[in-house]
Amino acid sequence: SLTGTDLHLSFGKNHVLRGVDIQVDAGTTTTVIGPSGSGKSTLLRVLNRLHEPDQGDILLDGRSVLQDNPDELRRRIGMVFQHFNLFPHKTVADNIALGPRKLRGLDKDEARAVAMRQLEIVGLTNKADARPGSLSGGQQQRVAIARALAMEPQVMFFDEATSALDPELVKGVLALMADLAQEGMTMVVVTHEMGYARNVSDNVLFMDHGVVVETGKPEQIFDSAESERLRAFLSQVL
Ligand code: ATP
Ligand code: MG
Repeated sequence: SLTGTDLHLSFGKNHVLRGVDIQVDAGTTTTVIGPSGSGKSTLLRVLNRLHEPDQGDILLDGRSVLQDNPDELRRRIGMVFQHFNLFPHKTVADNIALGPRKLRGLDKDEARAVAMRQLEIVGLTNKADARPGSLSGGQQQRVAIARALAMEPQVMFFDEATSALDPELVKGVLALMADLAQEGMTMVVVTHEMGYARNVSDNVLFMDHGVVVETGKPEQIFDSAESERLRAFLSQVL
């Protein structure tokens, strides 16, 4: 499980996270929704310590990780962003094998085997020796997901993983994310895809202005929102 308690972060005078609590049980998917600028990406970046919180605690399986080496935490949390940042001059398989070689200490053949296994999961074994640039955006995003999975993370973070994709490619990536959730991966997903949030999440967290305004099961959030702010948000996006 991953827990954040009373997380605060300011950028200068901009108090971006104002006491956020999040609890993600093992094997569940939590979706984070909310308006632009509400602090969703910042929350993910604090949870994997790309930014150190000014206040609050982060626990993995009940143990605080704030004293650990942040690299260690980032190895246990896989991250997939809007832009995939694959190395253009390396093959697809080499992009995936890089992390396991450098950070998990696998040799070349072992890392290749890991890459091929992950490519099978994302349905792209036939692209192993292609360059990322020759793949569609959706395929590149699946490679980025395979790359994160190759580190055998305990938790996967997705930050608007489908926002940069052409509409016809979104479905395939969402289906893969749904499969991962189904397989029992622990996931935190920031998304504007309300259909996905409703269908795949165990919990939904609605953020506005750096606070969690409302959290609950998808039915509760989408069908019987309590707060005016959430109802207003949903009326704009649904
Ligand atoms: P979006 O839906 O547009 O991605 P978001 O909910 O992810 O929005 P954040 O990116 O977390 O929002 O930004 C929250 C606030 O923090 C914004 O006011 C933003 O300008 C500020 N912010 C984010 N990152 C930084 C940074 N590295 N330095 C300074 N301010 C930042
Ligand atoms: Mg964001």
